[in-house]
Amino acid sequence: AKARGGSALHFYSQQMFDAFQNRLALEADLKQALLQGQFDLHLQPQIRFSDRRLTGLEALLRWQSPSRGMVPPDEFISVLEYAQLMIPVGYWVIEQSCQILANLQQQGLADLRLAINLSTAQLNDPELPAFLDKMLKLYPQAAGSLEFELTESLLASNIPDTIASMQQLKARGFRLAIDDFGTGYSSLSYLRQMPVDIIKIDKSFVFGMLDNQADFDIITSTIAMVRKLGLEVVAEGVETQAQAKTLQQHACDIGQGYLFSRPIPSNELVSRIQAGLDE
Ligand code: C2E
Ligand code: CA
Ligand code: CA
Ligand code: CA
Repeated sequence: AKARGGSALHFYSQQMFDAFQNRLALEADLKQALLQGQFDLHLQPQIRFSDRRLTGLEALLRWQSPSRGMVPPDEFISVLEYAQLMIPVGYWVIEQSCQILANLQQQGLADLRLAINLSTAQLNDPELPAFLDKMLKLYPQAAGSLEFELTESLLASNIPDTIASMQQLKARGFRLAIDDFGTGYSSLSYLRQMPVDIIKIDKSFVFGMLDNQADFDIITSTIAMVRKLGLEVVAEGVETQAQAKTLQQHACDIGQGYLFSRPIPSNELVSRIQAGLDE
């Protein structure tokens, strides 16, 4: 038994060593990814329930690695953050999004909004306002069309600094959304002080809403509260007509999910929109 315990320990440290090496290799590959143009944006449509028309898009980062294949963001965003690569990659995302907007406008699709995910490190980046001003000079139309999504967990720490950073974005004409609402700290009291326009209800509640009374109650009361505050409410993860119908009945403004469309590669976006988003 002793010998087995010893080898288990050895195996465990070997596993840790392997994990560490994998992590370093991943970091090295991600540095290359930015230099070699391996990132892409996929755009997921957002549909307004009142007329079932396309109203906006969310930009979602994709990494096509030559050795690893398509790597989902949940596997590399935290590594980007840890390796301090999220800010430069985030700049790339913002510039790319501005180009996509300009291209849409050239194609006569002028009134679509485009939402960009912003991590805490990006929001706190002191260079962000100057970078955005540079982008607005190059792409002046972007101001009224860009939206930034911030996760709810961000509301938990250093509220005055967070509000100041948000106000810098608002001052430039961008809309702000709270993402994954309901999963983080319940900062309902702070919501009032924050210059926020949109609340995105986390998809976990939408998945459960028709089977689980608690999820249903959370969704319907969140919609009512958000609308009472005069903000817009988006439900993410809408996969079925039944969910869409119920959300619409309870006055949810906008839906996003596989029911309407999966995220679309940037080079297919215009043709897919012109084809009415049919697969
Ligand atoms: P998120 O911001 O909550 O984005 C929504 C995620 O839900 C996306 O996953 C999207 O593909 C997925 N989704 C949309 N509709 C449905 C549906 O009907 N069913 C299901 N099961 N899933 C759906 P994705 O693209 O894998 O992104 C994961 C997370 O990575 C995002 O979650 C966001 O937090 C982060 N992320 C993605 N792109 C960026 C980026 O450019 N910058 C930063 N900072 N984070 C990003
Ligand atoms: Ca998001
Ligand atoms: Ca979300
Ligand atoms: Ca999420």
